[in-house]
Amino acid sequence: MEYSRKKLDLTGQRYGHLNVLRPAENVGARTAWLCRCDCGREAVVQTHRLRSGHTTSCGCRGARDNPRSALGLTYIDGTCVEMLRAKTVRRNNTSGVPGVDWCPGKGRWRATICFKGRRYYLGSYTSFDQAVQARKQGEAALHDAFLHEFAQQTLS
Ligand SMILES: [Zn+2]
Repeated sequence: MEYSRKKLDLTGQRYGHLNVLRPAENVGARTAWLCRCDCGREAVVQTHRLRSGHTTSCGCRGARDNPRSALGLTYIDGTCVEMLRAKTVRRNNTSGVPGVDWCPGKGRWRATICFKGRRYYLGSYTSFDQAVQARKQGEAALHDAFLHEFAQQTLS
């Protein structure tokens, strides 16, 4: 870990409805923080958005305040629930299939899956269909189990 003199620690700070839990992976070159909203959801928010008062909730307080529109990520237990639910394609995805990306360097399709804040590598394949198949198997094993668990929690 590399610390610069300017590095801030916002852990424990409160911004609007957001309590800063811990540093998150940086978003681009900017520092970001994992925050828990008063509503119970978690969101990753960039430092400048917290300090400027631009983002004061996970997005539950209205669209203008929605960090997802800025980051494309909302977390619960570190897993992007909306992303799993919608099975949406990330903007920088190259294949049109979630979790399947073309690696120009290797000349292969790479299958990955995001679960509880970690990205799991599912292998790389010369065939696009094989990579999609690997991703589908990963989804069945991880995502569906997680979403089931999450659905149970929200019902109780
Ligand atoms: Zn909220």
